[in-house]
Amino acid sequence: MVLTTCDHVDQIKITAKADDVKGCDGCLQIGDSWVELRMCLTCGHVGCCDSSKHQHARKHYETTKHPIIQSVEPGQKWGWCYLDEEYLKELSIPAS
Ligand SMILES: [Zn+2]
Ligand SMILES: [Zn+2]
Ligand SMILES: [Zn+2]
Repeated sequence: MVLTTCDHVDQIKITAKADDVKGCDGCLQIGDSWVELRMCLTCGHVGCCDSSKHQHARKHYETTKHPIIQSVEPGQKWGWCYLDEEYLKELSIPAS
């Protein structure tokens, strides 16, 4: 069940596996570190959160307009829609 008024959930295309996430693509390229990781649910891009220095997840949204990300931190299942600025609950990436 999706507890949200977000109507962008039809842009969720990928079912990437959280176990496959190695780190923030942008930070790995420049050799920097991140705080937490977020995955774009439209294309599978992995970026770092707004608490991270580079905020690559937000930059990905600003570049691509892919609206929905999900936390890929262990135990976190929530998503976030940048357009609605609203959390999406129970959007789970399969663990394996
Ligand atoms: Zn939305
Ligand atoms: Zn990053
Ligand atoms: Zn994307």
